[in-house]
Amino acid sequence: MTIKFSRTQNESVYLDPRKDFEPKTVVSETRRDPLTGQISRIFPFRKLMLHQHDWTPFVEESKQKFCPFCPEVMERVTPKFPAPIAAEGRIRAGDAVAIPNLNPYGKHAAVVIMTDRHYVPMHEIDIQLIAESFRAGLIYLQRVAAVDPDGARYGSINWNYMPYSGGSLIHPHLQVLAEPEPCTFDNRMIMASAEYARNNKNNYWTDLVETEAARGERYLGKTGRAQWLCAYAPRHVGDVLGIMPGRRTIDDITDQDLNELAAGLINVIRYYASCNIPSFNTALYLARQEDEGFTAHVRIVGRFTISPLVGSDITHMQILHDDPWTVILPEVVAEEIKKEPLNQFA
Ligand SMILES: [Zn+2]
Repeated sequence: MTIKFSRTQNESVYLDPRKDFEPKTVVSETRRDPLTGQISRIFPFRKLMLHQHDWTPFVEESKQKFCPFCPEVMERVTPKFPAPIAAEGRIRAGDAVAIPNLNPYGKHAAVVIMTDRHYVPMHEIDIQLIAESFRAGLIYLQRVAAVDPDGARYGSINWNYMPYSGGSLIHPHLQVLAEPEPCTFDNRMIMASAEYARNNKNNYWTDLVETEAARGERYLGKTGRAQWLCAYAPRHVGDVLGIMPGRRTIDDITDQDLNELAAGLINVIRYYASCNIPSFNTALYLARQEDEGFTAHVRIVGRFTISPLVGSDITHMQILHDDPWTVILPEVVAEEIKKEPLNQFA
């Protein structure tokens, strides 16, 4: 086991105008991701408590506007897949429906309409909603991989919940993407996982789970076989990983896996709701059988705005320097999630 956790504590001194310009020392942290080495910055607030965010005006306004995903119009206004991908035009799994993305940003891009409901508040997100939607996404990935094996070698399933996460429509939907090459960050993880496997004759993700479970400070527990932990070097606020041991490709993931992933995600979403994080991004990362050392996993990060209604939590650091940051220590996030009264992690 050779997981290396590397951190630097930075002490900054300024003369504090709130204390008659006395010198004040403020501590921040720079951590390195144990897999990729990427820097993550933490300005640790002991407890993040945002203003309660009321989506009602946005939801009401969006209802007055046209929503292509609402059941009255969906069949008529959304595109259909060509027959080789879906003879029936659209891919259904329970209440979820996968359709082509009208504005594709990659070779194969689909959207999964997760439910008939135009708005699902955070506390009403349930296992079935997530599991069925991810299943529709997975079926789409399998179909495009069968039809276009070279053009759909790498796929991912993604969820932008509510506008702060970049979601353009309130109506809950997933973004599914399959392309010849992995996305930049995915590729970095795939390459680093392979390198780790070569150097250590072991799987990074298995070692990470073992190390984190032994240390305990960021480990959350299990939902079935899925293993959950807070990322050591967060990509954003409340960054949680759900690792699926022994799973790697689109063909490895079972319905049971999706239920277990959904159960874990709901625990994290409940935590977000408890500290008023109103929005989130989620990705299910997958790779190919030959990508030695990679393990399929889901990642979820909270999204918020510091000033209600305006502003953004994405700054020059992420956009122009590729350095993610957060304001909560992962160890504090883990503590808070485990304290949740409905916490389902075993
Ligand atoms: Zn709608």
